[in-house]
Amino acid sequence: MQTRTLPSRHLAGVEVRLDPSVLVLAILVAWAFTGVFRADHSLGVALLLAVIGSVLVVLTTLAHELGHALEARHRGMKVEAITLLLFGGVTEMHAEGQTASDELAVAAVGPWISLVCAAGFGLLATFADDLFPAAVSGSIGQLAGVLGWWNLLLAVFNLVPGAPLDGGRVLRALLWMVTGDRLRALRASVRAGQVIGILLIGLGAATLMRAGAQATLVAAAFAVSGVFLVRAASSELRQAVLSAALEGRRVVDLVATPPADIDEGAAWPPEPAADGLPAATPDVPGVELTDDLHTLIDAFQGDHDVVRVVRGGRTIGTLTEAEVARAIARLRRGEPLR
Ligand SMILES: [Zn+2]
Repeated sequence: MQTRTLPSRHLAGVEVRLDPSVLVLAILVAWAFTGVFRADHSLGVALLLAVIGSVLVVLTTLAHELGHALEARHRGMKVEAITLLLFGGVTEMHAEGQTASDELAVAAVGPWISLVCAAGFGLLATFADDLFPAAVSGSIGQLAGVLGWWNLLLAVFNLVPGAPLDGGRVLRALLWMVTGDRLRALRASVRAGQVIGILLIGLGAATLMRAGAQATLVAAAFAVSGVFLVRAASSELRQAVLSAALEGRRVVDLVATPPADIDEGAAWPPEPAADGLPAATPDVPGVELTDDLHTLIDAFQGDHDVVRVVRGGRTIGTLTEAEVARAIARLRRGEPLR
């Protein structure tokens, strides 16, 4: 995912990026908290509590994502970064070599941490009167109570069993364990995500019709979450199908001429023409015939629209971005490459 983010920080060795939409979340939450605390406090105290509450909402969301990231790293997966967004966070990781039980543990740990946070804040809210001086115990209890409910909501929403939510990943891991078929399990969890998304959109429409204009915001929240779920589920399926199509393929499968037919003596780039101009720039990235297709796609990063195909240190041909795109489109449709 390429998004413009605020300056990133590292936490426990994981890069944490803040999407600018986190500011929208923080402001919305602070605004809602101010309304809650204004009833019993002066505006100054209400604002202070709201800011503390808003920071804690972002921090507990981070704790949830950090749980996914650290569990993934603990299980030998490479974690790229955590990005915090308006609707929670995203942990980018490389899932190659992941087993069903790895996936189950990595998916479940996030909601579990949110449940632990909910329980902790719930206890704090319950016993605030015994733990803190009377002057502040009421405010602390109120703040802890709101944060407890927030984290419970986060855990429950994330456990909804449809991709791409954590619950969808838990469902996928369990189906994968039972059927032994990763792609089939993924299709089922994506279908569940799409159905839940459509139900949410329907719920939004029903809310608007039953409750009228004063429920517009709630109805819109349902509908937006629904659209988000349907789109994210579909994109997860597309990525997985593509990834399955690329699996086990090598650069050699994409080279138009089978390697046996390539003239061993031919050099690339060809000898400079008579006018002395080189036939190609020297900084064209190279990939080995035996490299996998993920490596090939990575080679196009930056401004390159062509890569050299190398065997035994010698360039034996080229692949353009357009050729690779056509080959991948064929793979995706299940057509033969040649
Ligand atoms: Zn999560």
